[in-house]
Amino acid sequence: MNCQCGEIVTPGLLDVFEARQWLIDAGMPLNAVEEVTLEQAAGRVLAETVVAPLDMPGVDNSAMDGYALRLADYQATPGGEGLPVLQRIPAGAGILLLPTGGCARIFTGAPVPMGADIVVPQERVTLDQRGHIHIEGSLVVGANIRRQGEETRMGTPLLTAGTFLDAASIALLASHGINTVTVNRRVRVALLSTGDELIAPGTVRSPGQVYDSNRTMLNVLLAKAQCDVLDLGVIADSPQPLHQAFDHAQTAADLVICTGGVSVGEEDYVRPVIEQRGGLYFHGVAMKPGKPFAFGYLDAASSSSTPLIALPGNPVASLVGWQLLALPFIHAMQGRRPAALQRYTVKSGFDQRGPRGRCELLRVMLDWSNGAPVAQLAGGQGSHMLSAASQAHGYLMVNPDTDVIEGSSYPYYPISQFDA
Ligand code: AMP
Ligand code: MG
Repeated sequence: MNCQCGEIVTPGLLDVFEARQWLIDAGMPLNAVEEVTLEQAAGRVLAETVVAPLDMPGVDNSAMDGYALRLADYQATPGGEGLPVLQRIPAGAGILLLPTGGCARIFTGAPVPMGADIVVPQERVTLDQRGHIHIEGSLVVGANIRRQGEETRMGTPLLTAGTFLDAASIALLASHGINTVTVNRRVRVALLSTGDELIAPGTVRSPGQVYDSNRTMLNVLLAKAQCDVLDLGVIADSPQPLHQAFDHAQTAADLVICTGGVSVGEEDYVRPVIEQRGGLYFHGVAMKPGKPFAFGYLDAASSSSTPLIALPGNPVASLVGWQLLALPFIHAMQGRRPAALQRYTVKSGFDQRGPRGRCELLRVMLDWSNGAPVAQLAGGQGSHMLSAASQAHGYLMVNPDTDVIEGSSYPYYPISQFDA
């Protein structure tokens, strides 16, 4: 990012997709790696391309339980006498030589004997009294044989740097005999809430106090995103404690995430403090919930300074800001290839007055009772209402100044895509 920090580059609200792209571009990979076992690698990002150390499959092997034979031998049996079964080859056997004029009983995964050019599934074979096989249906040379190297050839790339290691990619590595991988090191995130009203869950609430659910939520989300968290707790609504927390984070973390105090009220100190430090990059995104979102650095020198993401205090706004904006920035720091947002078109099952001046992400559930999905509101849509967010399957995205009309279609973003 060509950042002129200290300057507010967005006097108005920034489009959410533009903000997302800016963040993806601004996230600098950490350039530090570690070697981990496959069990530890789940959810991490591959630092180097892995080259296949061997062919997969390693030998020609059977795709079926059945009979391996040379087709010409079967077709040459006089009067359709069939072929005698001369071998039995279970998985794990070595590579045998098929005797001429006979066939082999073979099982899935077992090496096809040299000389055989087809495997016939057992369902299509009958054995006569002499133990000769007779086959129903047409026969094609090569059928039901998995060829050596047909999936991967030794020396070709298996997974490239930047791959997110999920269960399937870890299994792919294991299937090639690999048991450790080099991954990018974890991002260390300093996390803090701001607000004099905030108290810890599990304590008794006095009138006017609010449980700090955002920090609990973000601790969970950061752990899921494989980040190490430095939890700085709740910071009072005042510039000095915020400066102190940021000073601490600057030396101890790769990224700071804070929530609350980032609106434009008299008690909102995050923006003025970032401005004082000379690092504000943008403030305000044209989405509902999630407008009071800021991005910047802890000081003016962006390339060497610690980035800061300020999420709104309202819990659902904080969640949406994390999903759409903070998470792709963290992925970029992790060196992960950016993924396009998954989006479908879904019919609305309700009417709703549209948002003014910004897009709205309605928390909806999909009703499949009539065969095709119809979006229904998952509950109250206030940005302080976590109940609907906890029930929702996805977001129905409504353009600025557009009313939602029952039966019309709108873009729908499944929430499950933000899980990994
Ligand atoms: P603010 O952005 O600080 O003006 O806060 C907006 C609303 O979100 C207020 O109702 C706050 O009490 C609430 N809020 C702020 N921080 C948190 C938090 N960490 N957990 C839950 N609610 C919060
Ligand atoms: Mg506040």
